[in-house]
Amino acid sequence: MVEHHIQIYDTMTRRKRRFKPLNPPTVTMYVCGPTVYGDPHIGNLRTFTLGDLIRRWLEHRGYLVKYVMNITDIEDKTIRDSGNAGKTLKEFTDYYTGVFFRGLDLLSVKRATAHPRATVYVPQMIEFIQTLMEMGVAYNAEDGVYFDIDKFPRYGELSGVDIGKVERTERVASDEYDKEDAQDFSLWKKATPEEIERGIYFESPWGRGRPGWHIECSVMSKELLGDTVDIHAGGEDLAFPHHENEVAQSETVTGKKFVRFWLHMRHLMIDGGKMSKSLGNYVSFDDILDKHTPDALRYLYIATHYRRPLNFTWGNMENAQNTLNRLENTLDLIENTMKGPDDNMDYGEREKKLLETVRAEKRGFVEDMDDDFDAPDALGHLHAINGAVNEYLTEPANKGVLREAADIYGELLGVLGLFEKRSAGGDEATERLIAMITDLREEQRKEKNYAFADLIRDRLAEAGVEIQDTADGTTWKLKS
Ligand code: AMP
Ligand code: ZN
Repeated sequence: MVEHHIQIYDTMTRRKRRFKPLNPPTVTMYVCGPTVYGDPHIGNLRTFTLGDLIRRWLEHRGYLVKYVMNITDIEDKTIRDSGNAGKTLKEFTDYYTGVFFRGLDLLSVKRATAHPRATVYVPQMIEFIQTLMEMGVAYNAEDGVYFDIDKFPRYGELSGVDIGKVERTERVASDEYDKEDAQDFSLWKKATPEEIERGIYFESPWGRGRPGWHIECSVMSKELLGDTVDIHAGGEDLAFPHHENEVAQSETVTGKKFVRFWLHMRHLMIDGGKMSKSLGNYVSFDDILDKHTPDALRYLYIATHYRRPLNFTWGNMENAQNTLNRLENTLDLIENTMKGPDDNMDYGEREKKLLETVRAEKRGFVEDMDDDFDAPDALGHLHAINGAVNEYLTEPANKGVLREAADIYGELLGVLGLFEKRSAGGDEATERLIAMITDLREEQRKEKNYAFADLIRDRLAEAGVEIQDTADGTTWKLKS
């Protein structure tokens, strides 16, 4: 493992602390996943992309990251909207889970180690609630089972809500509620007649019903990552009540610290307000894709620190696209130069200066990323490398030297998850395999075995490779 000095800002202790996982080299990380009731907007996607950036950096530093992101497929909104759409809960949430993954794939957000669906863990949730009941911290009311927050003295510590000062209503059934209220929250909700009719319920010791939203994350985190996780992350709006409630439940049951580092991503804003589905002020991912590449959006996200709000404007988006294109032009330039003649074997001042700059800027990049994942500052170093390479390429290049500089440039772009699609499938082994297949097909054509030649063409197309017969032979390209 590489020696490092990663520092992470922890919401609970409200300061940056040196990061060391509980069981190195493993890092356990849980990110509260999406509620799959609609297309994710670019605010949601920011949170998940920044989670991915953090994971990639930890992996780059040699950690084995066990990364769990749940799919919230049963809570108030999924039930309500699937009903309105005339779909079963499963049809409805499966569809939006697919939409969500498509978004992640386009943004080069790596799949988590596990993406558990809440509905699959209901037996464990029931067991968890039973433990809370036996411990006397939960009670059974008319419409469900509630957690009694008076029984958890540290309630409010994470988010800083002072429960002495806030308005204290008795209890709340809804999964989401106002910042101003601290309330006993729902662990188990008894089924309504409509839910019974639609078959949306599970049998439990408290009758038919379903889990509350907060218990879902506590249980899936425990089941998949253990009692204590190194990092738990989510958007800033989740600190209260969602994460506060998770702490209360989990620490009561296990008697252990639930989370060692709490990370909260600030919101994506539009016109000075939070972008949100319920406010209707959102820009969808498809709106972006109409005009820009997914990598440009990823760049826009990365260029603002995760603990700062990002104000979305189309102008910013435009700038992100231009900057990204500039970074990509350098990749093209490098590739073309590497394919060109080998006419400079010098190792002179220009070469020395290039390598010194690139190595020093890489160290700067690493220091910034180690410091609470400061990607905006790290990008400054990346641009310095970009500038140095461009400058070097204004005159004939020593390919060995260029290779080293290009490798560092590519490595840092890779850590940021940029241009991943660019290299996909275009590697040497793929090129040789496709050349071999098209040669074999050519022989079949010479033998007038046209049906077989067509079959090869069709099968290649199925595999995403389009071929074309030209006067100069067969050419191919990957279908985008
Ligand atoms: P939801 O699907 O509403 O449960 O939200 C999924 C994730 O997106 C949560 O971590 C939220 O905190 C986060 N989120 C919601 N709105 C925004 C926003 N405007 N900017 C960034 N993240 C957000
Ligand atoms: Zn959660």
